[in-house]
Amino acid sequence: MAVLPDPPTPTLAAIYAAYEAERGDGFREHLGASLIGKSCERALWYDFRWVTRARFPGRILRLFETGQLEEARLVRNLRATGATVLEVDPESGRQWRVEAHDGHFGGSLDAVAIGLQEAPKTWHVVEFKTHSAKSFRDLVAKGVTFSKPQHWAQMQIYMHLTGITRTLYMAVCKDTDDLHIERVNVDAAAAGRLLEKARRVIAAKRPPARISEDPAWWECRFCDHHATCHAGAPAEINCRTCLHATLVEGGWHCARFDQALDRAAQHRACPKHLFIPDLVAGQVTDAGDDHVVYRMADGTQWVNDARDGAPC
Ligand code: SF4
Ligand code: SF4
Repeated sequence: MAVLPDPPTPTLAAIYAAYEAERGDGFREHLGASLIGKSCERALWYDFRWVTRARFPGRILRLFETGQLEEARLVRNLRATGATVLEVDPESGRQWRVEAHDGHFGGSLDAVAIGLQEAPKTWHVVEFKTHSAKSFRDLVAKGVTFSKPQHWAQMQIYMHLTGITRTLYMAVCKDTDDLHIERVNVDAAAAGRLLEKARRVIAAKRPPARISEDPAWWECRFCDHHATCHAGAPAEINCRTCLHATLVEGGWHCARFDQALDRAAQHRACPKHLFIPDLVAGQVTDAGDDHVVYRMADGTQWVNDARDGAPC
């Protein structure tokens, strides 16, 4: 008979639980530059519309933290070569940030640097990434453009929006501590296409087309939104999944109550929430004040009913 593994100790379980409690829902205020290289625009729209809550176990969240902690060491390593590395903007005292599309798209740079051995007089965006051994081998073999197109896209946005023409991509292998360093040149045309992609996703009132109609397609199998996209699972309830919410310059607005929605209000939603019909796996057959009737895929009727909900 197989020997069962020991259960985790209460302390270990409590450590992981603390990470999970701290993490929150993982929803981002804006569409992130770190995601814009994703191949599926529908997935990006779901990200931006807070359709699926991020649920990572504590162990994985701790692993993410390892990547963040590594950054301080990589900065020290770069400074040891004589480079000047600025992790924050000296004017604001905050992380370097870039934004576009009225603040609905953006991201934060790890650092900018000058005095690098390869080109001492040229300012560089600096991007740090940690990799598993398999991912690191692939990166070294193919280079970041082909091995990690999502990282490449992120760097193009950072360069385009800062006006800096080079990025130093610095990768570390989590298994061996090997380092890989690459310089990436700005590609203005590609950055323009990525910005336009972000604009399309942000402006879309309905989910863009799927990258594949096959739920078993490899990119779909690894997608956080698979259950809603392919299996009809309900979306999260918040203002961004509500048909009354509209995007305005720098924020969100509720047409039902004619009021601006700050981040806390978007999270809370209200009892008058009604799903954007594309997020329900059925056909709209009727609608009225504060309700929408659907015929579901299995032939049953479902009423998204907010008639009894008290106003905000
Ligand atoms: S499941 Fe597939 S089609 Fe749907 S959002 Fe994800 S990647 Fe796109
Ligand atoms: S009706 Fe309620 S849930 Fe919908 S956008 Fe307005 S405040 Fe948010």
